[in-house]
Amino acid sequence: MKCPRCRRGPMFSEGNPWKLKRTLKMPEKCPECGQRYELEVGFWYGTGYVSYGLCFFFSLFSFFAWWGVFGVSTEDHRFFWWMGINAVLLILFQPWIMRLSRVVYLYIFVHYDPDYKRSAVRTFDYSTGDYYDEEKMRDKPGDRKPDDAAVRGDDPSK
Ligand SMILES: [Zn+2]
Repeated sequence: MKCPRCRRGPMFSEGNPWKLKRTLKMPEKCPECGQRYELEVGFWYGTGYVSYGLCFFFSLFSFFAWWGVFGVSTEDHRFFWWMGINAVLLILFQPWIMRLSRVVYLYIFVHYDPDYKRSAVRTFDYSTGDYYDEEKMRDKPGDRKPDDAAVRGDDPSK
């Protein structure tokens, strides 16, 4: 799980998500490009929706896999076996899902910058709804791609 901006720096301090005490330990900034991970205080609250969606698709997938392998019938308990096993799997995979939802969530706001070594870190500013350069602008304004200024309407505080 790599930083969305440079796709090199690790997003989590600990490689193994199942070391539960360190599951959500992240460096404040990407060690490679300096991208801040928690864009603002409480930024990660929005990941609840992402992990809900991931759990839903995980269950959907496991249901069809179960259907394909064991079948589902109303005349026996196969459906309930699926529910139980799916629930256990969801719990087992929870640390990984929690991480993945942070990654997915940050990827919505931070875009890949192949030129990350030369250009300044941009941070989303919720008060203006636009990106601003965290450091003094090091890149020439002409270098900007049009989609750099693209503003996403997703504001998790609403
Ligand atoms: Zn990075």
